[in-house]
Amino acid sequence: PSNNSHTSSAPRRLTVMAGPTAVGKGTISADIRARYPEVWLSVSATTRDPRPGEVDGVNYFFVGPQRFSEMVENDELLEWAVVHGRNSYGTPRKAVEEQLNTGVPALLEIDLQGARQVKESMPDAQFIFLAPPSWEELVRRLIGRGTESAEEQERRLETARVELAAQAEFDHIVINDDVTRATDEIIRLMGLEPKNF
Ligand code: 5GP
Repeated sequence: PSNNSHTSSAPRRLTVMAGPTAVGKGTISADIRARYPEVWLSVSATTRDPRPGEVDGVNYFFVGPQRFSEMVENDELLEWAVVHGRNSYGTPRKAVEEQLNTGVPALLEIDLQGARQVKESMPDAQFIFLAPPSWEELVRRLIGRGTESAEEQERRLETARVELAAQAEFDHIVINDDVTRATDEIIRLMGLEPKNF
C-alpha cells in the first residue's frame, strides 16, 4: 500500500516511524540524526527503568507512574500507550507542536497504538512502518541483542505479531534489510536533501 501522493510535493514535516521490537528503529533514528542534525527527534516520556547507558532527557524522560498519569490527565501527551503490556510511553505534545511551528522536520519513533492516535490528530503526518526482512530475522535480532529476559522477549514477540499484521495501515513500508539502505530510503521519504559521505 504505497501511497506516494505526498512524496512529489512539499515534504511533510512530521514523520511517524513505527515497527516491531528489535527491527532497528533506534539504530536508524540515531543514523538519521547523525547525518541530519537538523532533524528533530521527539523524546518520549516512559515509566520504564533506564537501561545502562540511557540518559534522562536524551533517550527518554524517565518518569514515575504518578507523573505519567498527571501528564495524561493534563493532556500533555500527543499520544500514549502501554507497550508490551507493561510500561507506559508517550509523546510530549508541546515539544512536537513547537517544532512543527518552526518548520523543522520532526521524527517520532513510537509503537503502533501511538501511531494510530497521531493519525487521528495529525492526519497530514507521514507514517512509515519499519519491517524486518522476515519473522525469523526479527527473532534472531531480538535474541541476539540480549537486552531482555526470555519472558520479556516472548511478550515483545507477541506484540510484534500484532504490529506486523497492521503494516498496511501505513503510508510506506520500509524493509530494514540493511541499515544504510533503509536509512537512505527514510531520508528520501522525509524529503531531506541527499548528502554524500
Ligand atoms: P523500548 O522500551 O525498547 O525503548 O521501547 C519499547 C517500545 O515503545 C518501542 O516499540 C517504541 O517504539 C515504543 N515507544 C517509545 N516511545 C514511545 C512513545 O512515546 N509512544 C508510544 N506509543 N510508543 C513509544
